[in-house]
Amino acid sequence: MANEYKQTMNLPKTKFPMRAALAQREPERLKRWQENHVYELMLKKNEGHEKFVLHDGPPYANGPIHLGHAMNKIAKDMINRYKAMQGYETPYVPGWDCHGQPIEHKVEEKLGTEKFNQTSVAEIRELCNQFAVENIDLQREGFKRLGVLGDWDNPYLTLYHQHDAADIEAFKAMFDKGMVYRGHKPVHWCKHCHTALAEAEIEYGDETSPSIYVRFELTTKPAGLESFDGPVDFVIWTTTPWTIPSDQAVSLKPEAIYTAIEHDGRAEIMLRDLAEKVCGIAGWDVTPVMVDGKPYEVPAEVLDHLHYKQPVFDGVEGVALLADYVGTEDGTGIVHNSPGHGVDDYYVCMKEGMDVCMPVDDDGRFYNGTEFGTGGPFSGMDTDEANPHIIQFLRDRGMLVAEVKITHSYPHCWRCKKPVLFR
Ligand SMILES: [Zn+2]
Repeated sequence: MANEYKQTMNLPKTKFPMRAALAQREPERLKRWQENHVYELMLKKNEGHEKFVLHDGPPYANGPIHLGHAMNKIAKDMINRYKAMQGYETPYVPGWDCHGQPIEHKVEEKLGTEKFNQTSVAEIRELCNQFAVENIDLQREGFKRLGVLGDWDNPYLTLYHQHDAADIEAFKAMFDKGMVYRGHKPVHWCKHCHTALAEAEIEYGDETSPSIYVRFELTTKPAGLESFDGPVDFVIWTTTPWTIPSDQAVSLKPEAIYTAIEHDGRAEIMLRDLAEKVCGIAGWDVTPVMVDGKPYEVPAEVLDHLHYKQPVFDGVEGVALLADYVGTEDGTGIVHNSPGHGVDDYYVCMKEGMDVCMPVDDDGRFYNGTEFGTGGPFSGMDTDEANPHIIQFLRDRGMLVAEVKITHSYPHCWRCKKPVLFR
């Protein structure tokens, strides 16, 4: 029956087989390309023509190829072939990134963290080197199997010494021009992996943190409150109590209007537009301090450069500064500022020429000591462990205005998935 139908139809004739059988035929075709030196022929055909060089941003040599590699390499291959067909000379030199965390991480996984920590740096480097070389071979075979044409026998590897030498040469050229200086800057730090993390290595996820409102007592009364008969405070807000020991300043929003709420015989300064909300959280009546029959209201500029008592270390003072980044939606409109643990904080304090205090070590523990710049009463504590102790310390000293919990988007380490800190 089937055969009879076939006779009645005008089917096209082709030498192509009925079935693609790619799993079997592709390797044969790739072998033919290789034996006939198709890549070299392609280069030779366009030799001396205008060049089109696709610089390959290299993958990490840290495991077998996956779909991401396939997408990347096939797209590059299509571009090169298209350009070759247009007549350009298209040398393609693939490369591998053989350095850095992704490879170290794999080696740590293989050894286990305990053994990894006991192994010497030189040995770790050698293991990383071996791991990279093995994986280059593995990936190279994978890329060839995808049909990507290139100079697979002569790739560039970042572990080649001539590559390091070129880096150093470029660095020296910059150094000679006076473009290089040494400084500090807060970066994302994972205390579990003991490493700084680039922005691209950060994953954001929801985290529940303590959200505290704290009063910092001013050492000089601001203009308009000179005759107020009681202490005057800045009411600050923070979600990282562990940064309170390294507090060096508070930031206020330029040109914003601040008010003072009278509570317990004290004048509590905060952003006027947030006063009702803050009093609600603190359980206070919204009773503004009255000056000449009117509520005390001043622009931030009046409070600029006033000093207050550092909340943990006696005899140390912090300073009020104006900064655009201060939000007017949450908190009190006064942000506690710890330049060793926040980028915004850092730039504001740098502008003032302040020295940065950074009392936390690689493990995320406070340095031991009694002076400002150490952990003080929280010496040796891990930052997470310290949070409740710091909150209790503030409560005992009568400085804690309110404590709530907040769920917010917080940076996490892409490797261990744990929250990171700024350091
Ligand atoms: Zn980590």
